[in-house]
Amino acid sequence: MSKQAKLTPMMEQYLGIKAQYPDAFLFYRLGDFYEMFYEDATNASQILEITLTSRNRNAENPIPMAGIPYHSAQGYIDTLIEKGYKVAICEQVEDPKESKGMVKREVVRLITPGTFMESKGLDAKDNNYLTALYFDDNVQKYGFAYVDLSTGELKTSTLEQDDSVLNECSSLQTKEVVLASEISETLKQQLTQRLNVLFSTQLESTSTTEVAYLSENLKDDTQRMVVERLLAYLSTTQKRSLGHLQQAESYEPAHFLKLDHYSKFNLELSQSIRSGKKQGTLLWLLDETKTAMGGRLLKQWLDRPLIQASQITARQNMVESLLNAYFERLDLQEALKNVYDLERLAGRVAYGSVNGRDLLQLKVSLQQIPMIRELLEGINQGEWAELLVDLDPVTDVVDLIEQAIDEDAPLAITEGNVIKSGFNEQLDVYRDAMTNGKRWIAELEAHEREETGIKKLKIGFNRVFGYYIEVTKSQLDLVPENRYDRKQTLANAERFITPELKEKERLILEAEEKSQSLEYQLFLQVREVIKESIERLQTLAKAVSAIDVLQSFASVSEKYQYVRPTMVEAGKELSLIEGRHPVVEKVLGHQKYVPNTVKMDPETMILLITGPNMSGKSTYMRQLALTVIMAQMGCFVPAESAMMPIFDQIFTRIGASDDLISGQSTFMVEMMEANEALRHATPQSLILFDEIGRGTATYDGMALAEAIVEYIHQEVGAKTLFSTHYHELTDLDQTLAGLENIHVGAVEKDGDVVFLHKMMDGPADKSYGIHVAKLAGLPQPLLERASVILSHLEGNHVEKKNSGETSSLTMPAPPEPVVKTPVVAEEPVMEVGQLSLFDEVSSEESAVLD
Ligand code: ADP
Repeated sequence: MSKQAKLTPMMEQYLGIKAQYPDAFLFYRLGDFYEMFYEDATNASQILEITLTSRNRNAENPIPMAGIPYHSAQGYIDTLIEKGYKVAICEQVEDPKESKGMVKREVVRLITPGTFMESKGLDAKDNNYLTALYFDDNVQKYGFAYVDLSTGELKTSTLEQDDSVLNECSSLQTKEVVLASEISETLKQQLTQRLNVLFSTQLESTSTTEVAYLSENLKDDTQRMVVERLLAYLSTTQKRSLGHLQQAESYEPAHFLKLDHYSKFNLELSQSIRSGKKQGTLLWLLDETKTAMGGRLLKQWLDRPLIQASQITARQNMVESLLNAYFERLDLQEALKNVYDLERLAGRVAYGSVNGRDLLQLKVSLQQIPMIRELLEGINQGEWAELLVDLDPVTDVVDLIEQAIDEDAPLAITEGNVIKSGFNEQLDVYRDAMTNGKRWIAELEAHEREETGIKKLKIGFNRVFGYYIEVTKSQLDLVPENRYDRKQTLANAERFITPELKEKERLILEAEEKSQSLEYQLFLQVREVIKESIERLQTLAKAVSAIDVLQSFASVSEKYQYVRPTMVEAGKELSLIEGRHPVVEKVLGHQKYVPNTVKMDPETMILLITGPNMSGKSTYMRQLALTVIMAQMGCFVPAESAMMPIFDQIFTRIGASDDLISGQSTFMVEMMEANEALRHATPQSLILFDEIGRGTATYDGMALAEAIVEYIHQEVGAKTLFSTHYHELTDLDQTLAGLENIHVGAVEKDGDVVFLHKMMDGPADKSYGIHVAKLAGLPQPLLERASVILSHLEGNHVEKKNSGETSSLTMPAPPEPVVKTPVVAEEPVMEVGQLSLFDEVSSEESAVLD
């Protein structure tokens, strides 16, 4: 007998639905359970650790089955989604009592990592972006779009290269990419391997009025296409209105400071290299936001620093205004603390998942707006004008919630007590009926006690029998058998009813039922009215988020004594006086950090940095990169004073930790990144190359390093910091007018090297490699042998040019004790230093062996 023949109608229905969702776990509703069958059941039993049973146990081919209770499904769904699976929720869509034959069932929602909104795991300060990708053959470009269902943000762009797609996806930290067309296998592979995304496919568009409205402002066909398919994917999976989405907005990555994802990673902007967490990153340092939406916007600003002087200055002006208004800022922070996640609340109003408590939160949030407005108006000298326009307190919504929603509204919206008395006459009538009825019953209790003489007579209520009169066994003889009907016998009591009690009960229950359903209707009406203000709420949410980020900048700038940088034209003078690495400074403490100046005239292109390992070269480079990013975000910067040209792109080649992950040869990655910079950098860009060339044989590496320096100087013209341990390169200042030597000072004391972490003019005069090897604990005989070889080599070498600077031995020691051993080992920055330290020692060794 074939398997098919044995299927029950229910299993047939199941298989029919499952066929439409082959890549999702199908949660099939059966009574109070969601059941899974076949492979779904076996897989889920392992992933979720639930019991695997089977449907027709005695049959020839029992069907594997696993179920979870309906009411506790959310936790299981969370787990599956977090592990990167999809879940299709299949419900009964008609009343079993009314159906003839099989109850009709349908998938009511497909939950995927990118469309997930409920998880407790979703950090309030993180967005959850679903992205879509469409390769347009006609123009050979990608249409790219992303949406956050919980906030309604919808953006799109056109990207030309695979790399840009990777960069966008990585900075959005998307977990799911909707393929709206075929894309190359290579890109797919990179997306899965590097970013671990899940793919979904949507090759058709829908053209509803809603979609037309949302994509109305898009002029580019490629962008319109990708947005339409993204929306089509949303409506097929969510099966609800998309009314809460904001109109698609086109953006241009080139309008922001460009940083590839390697650089973002290496500079630890929002993720620490070691832990992958926020702790120890620039985002961690800058985040003093008071609202979740401010936190999200800060991350967005960090991902896209500005490149237009006017925009940067506008933000700086607002930060400065807040810095100068200490008390107003404190009040502002207090007000912001009472603002809930307006953006997500608005999203839920439109999405239809808002409850009474949410509306109360919305009210409290909106009630803060007049205060915020007043504070900003008080300090406004023009800089706040634009944001003030958007600070609409949406008072009609506040009033409506105030009138309609009970202060003690429960989470459920179907069980009553959500709507305030006085809001609706009919509701008040029902409620009166309920209260009167209940009062009547209370009076009846007293009356019956007196009448029958049963002192302990009680009137109670339960769901099965409704209202009843309860008499304990000891007093049963007093019961007026003619009036009371026996209903239930308990161990030590009997329960009775009377016709008049039942009549009142009917009235009470009817009123209760009617009032609940009326309350629900009223709640939906209130929600619909508020829905009309969604756009105002969203605009307001954006303004409040921006204010929150700006106050965060002001607070951080005050706390760490940052200064306002003067922004100058791209490619012009850079002068960062006594700058600091903001994160290292925060971790080490202001006292211990040795500030350093970065100065480059308009003509200076390259600072060639020499100095021992572990002396602070890469910290110096990172310091500059972070300062540039902070400045272009509109924040103040860690320095005594700063004059900064606006950069268009930052390229970095620092550290080696990412290479370990991708498994590529370090040197190959190094060259690929160098290539990226050399080809794409402009005279307005910043290049940071840390020890380029050290991954290969000495002469090879030196030759390449020198050629790269020359190429940057002659062909690229970008401002460049280039650290190297090839001292031979320091001679380049003779031939390249735009190159200057600087070095990190160190002193030798009793045979130990002591780093000053201080940058000085001219080249370093000694490599200190052997001393660093000593710090790392290499065996003493080896170190002695290396010294012998070194002096031998130095003896053979043509006399080395000295820059004329006096020996660093005479340098005064800085106030604080300098690092003698690599003590700060728990520092993330340090880890990179550590890696390079060991790399260095081994290449030095191989140099000796050469
Ligand atoms: P390099 O790149 O020269 O090998 P790093 O920049 O990695 O050295 O610095 C090594 C360690 O020295 C860092 O982990 C940091 O703790 C410390 N350090 C670097 N610069 C400074 C500074 N300016 N002030 C104080 N400590 C510093």
